[in-house]
Amino acid sequence: MAAMTLCALLAAACGPTSTPVDPPSTVAVPGAPEGPADEPSVDGGDTTAAAPADAPPEPAPATPAPADAAPATPTDGAPPPAATPTADAAPPAPTPIDADGPLASACRPLLQPTIPARVIEVDAQAGAELSGAVLEHLAGQLRQVADTPGGVTVDASGRIDGDVREWTLGDIRAVEAASRSIPQTSDTAVVHVVALRGQPDQSDPGIASSIGIAFGATSFVVFPDRVDDLALLLGGADAILRAVVVHELGHLLCLVNLSYDSEIDHEDPEHPGHSRDDTSVMFHAIETTAIGQLFQGAPPSTFGDADLADLEGLRTGRY
Ligand SMILES: [Zn+2]
Repeated sequence: MAAMTLCALLAAACGPTSTPVDPPSTVAVPGAPEGPADEPSVDGGDTTAAAPADAPPEPAPATPAPADAAPATPTDGAPPPAATPTADAAPPAPTPIDADGPLASACRPLLQPTIPARVIEVDAQAGAELSGAVLEHLAGQLRQVADTPGGVTVDASGRIDGDVREWTLGDIRAVEAASRSIPQTSDTAVVHVVALRGQPDQSDPGIASSIGIAFGATSFVVFPDRVDDLALLLGGADAILRAVVVHELGHLLCLVNLSYDSEIDHEDPEHPGHSRDDTSVMFHAIETTAIGQLFQGAPPSTFGDADLADLEGLRTGRY
């Protein structure tokens, strides 16, 4: 189990050489049926998940008035002061995230305010769409832990063609790359969620039992079909999927101990990258079908205190 999870976690290291087997699916982005074209929305009649919304507008840091805005002081014949260097050259624009980077390489730009806005792009096969409630929960968790003056929005308009099948990690990577439609920029950091029909490659012990897999700097996949058999036990499909998507987001945000060493001893040594705390969404079983044996009722779908402390350290530069 440890090796399996580690491999799933370190998919970036384990899998990137595998070549996509099938032709990458293409993404169709149906225009929003109505409403402003640029308003992100959740397809399929669900409530809109686009909510830069009620995240209270972060108080903008008070910008000091530029020094050279002060009226020139009369100089009594003295030589005029050397021109104040004008508002020091604008700071360089932040470097956009490399969406092709490895897992855990982008948690700081995702958590810190340098790149101000976040978009969660969700591309799904027909029948694998995530509900508006699941996506609202995911966006809400990101809002809670990241400093995002530009807000967090969801665009779930993307569609992925293809049938129910088994997916190798190479297939998943290929379809993820092919379906990205929102670019990483200096203003916007994108989390890319791919929702696929079927299941991961059953001959690959690293991912065979996975419901979700985080595998890139900003990307994870979720397999909603896999929760059907568990839904009755665990409070319904959405209750499981809410937990799975936040768990995978947590890995993108470097939980647990991915690229830093927590001051709090909460990593499960048998499941590297996961929390020992079974009330945390970062508990190892959340992302696998083992969830059915370990929980009754809805599994945890929010970060635990130790996770939140780690995220605060990553957000503020302590880690
Ligand atoms: Zn995990």
